Amino acid sequence: QYRSDLSIFQERESEARGYCRRFDTLFTRAVGSELFDADGRRWIDFLAGCGSLNYGHNDADMSAALIAHIQQQGLAVGMDLHTGPKKRFLELFARHVLAPRGLNHRVMFTGPTGTNAIEAALKLARKVTGRHNVIAFTNGYHGVSMGALAATGNGYNRMGQGALLPGVTRHPFEGYFGPGVDTADMLAQLLDDPSSGIDKPAAILLEPVQGEGGLNQASRGWMQRIAQIAQRHGALLIVDEVQAGCGRTGSFFSFEPLGVVPDLIALSKSISGYGLPMALLLVRPDRDQWRPAEHNGTFRGNNHAFVTAAVAIEKYWQDDSFSQGVAQRASLVTRELQAMAAMVPGAYLKGRGLMQGLHVGSGALADRILRRAFERGLVIEAAGPEDEVIKVLTPLNISAALLAEGLSILQRAVAETLG
Ligand code: PMP
Repeated sequence: QYRSDLSIFQERESEARGYCRRFDTLFTRAVGSELFDADGRRWIDFLAGCGSLNYGHNDADMSAALIAHIQQQGLAVGMDLHTGPKKRFLELFARHVLAPRGLNHRVMFTGPTGTNAIEAALKLARKVTGRHNVIAFTNGYHGVSMGALAATGNGYNRMGQGALLPGVTRHPFEGYFGPGVDTADMLAQLLDDPSSGIDKPAAILLEPVQGEGGLNQASRGWMQRIAQIAQRHGALLIVDEVQAGCGRTGSFFSFEPLGVVPDLIALSKSISGYGLPMALLLVRPDRDQWRPAEHNGTFRGNNHAFVTAAVAIEKYWQDDSFSQGVAQRASLVTRELQAMAAMVPGAYLKGRGLMQGLHVGSGALADRILRRAFERGLVIEAAGPEDEVIKVLTPLNISAALLAEGLSILQRAVAETLG
């Protein structure tokens, strides 16, 4: 029923619109790892709602559960009332996600976006420690509110804002100065030195794999040193799993293989499983020092999201088989990206799991490749300070056939752009 004319977007939608500029068509339908436009053209989806569709579009079991909930006149908005879907979600999340990983964190439902979970984490860390300084890292991305934005590295997002949340100190992420410099040791020295001018932090906030910042990864040793620094200085370790969580890097949480236990863990994007807005902050019990209704949010209880989130956990996280499938798909991505890297002078691979990418050297080159890929039927985006890393972010359950087809479209786009 939709006509494909796009003029209303140019006339009426804010200049803030972003992704749609590169993907200039009217999408009307999506299933699994495929998108369709008003004229029936098909694209393979290597963007996956920027990591909010780890289980693809319109999962049949989640759709059925949601339709049944609506037909039974279940609540839509629950705020923080006790509801059936919320109960079920908490039970399944505790049983299949927290318990097997030895985590006893409490679940705080924040407002519906990743930004909201980060904002809650910053506030709680300040409250628990009575301090206000937060250490965040170069190329980190944590959201767009004044606190989360202050912790975000990229200057483009902070343009024209002037002073944001005071007290955020940005520290170089692992590898920022190349292999010779250990930026965790540097942080330890700075915090031990009373004349460094860095106040004792309330929190250290980071993404183990930087989603928007270009797929830089924290190694196990570096991450453990950061956790030790946080502990030694009485700061909370906040891990942002908004993009890297829910299985994206192979394990449910991206921090799991790094051997640390964060005080606070932010989750959003794929936690609802279905693309419905939902965000939560996992809080180590002794850090859960909120008073009732001290930190609110009307939309912190979307029952439609709880219904689909519960199905996602039951369907995918009861055992290791889903993670194993992700690992298999990830190794195909590695292999194919390596072949592409050989075609682009100076290109190299970044990231892990189904959060890998190809650093092609410049944002301009990445843009040409991505536009070509779109013409050939692939939706895929870039990351990094200059959008110079082509980022493969497929649904985690993409079929082998679609994954291979999407990667071959990308390879052709690389070859055609350079040829
Ligand atoms: N943290 C990370 C790591 C993210 O990737 C994002 C979104 N790209 C956010 C926080 C903010 O989430 P939202 O856009 O849902 O507010």
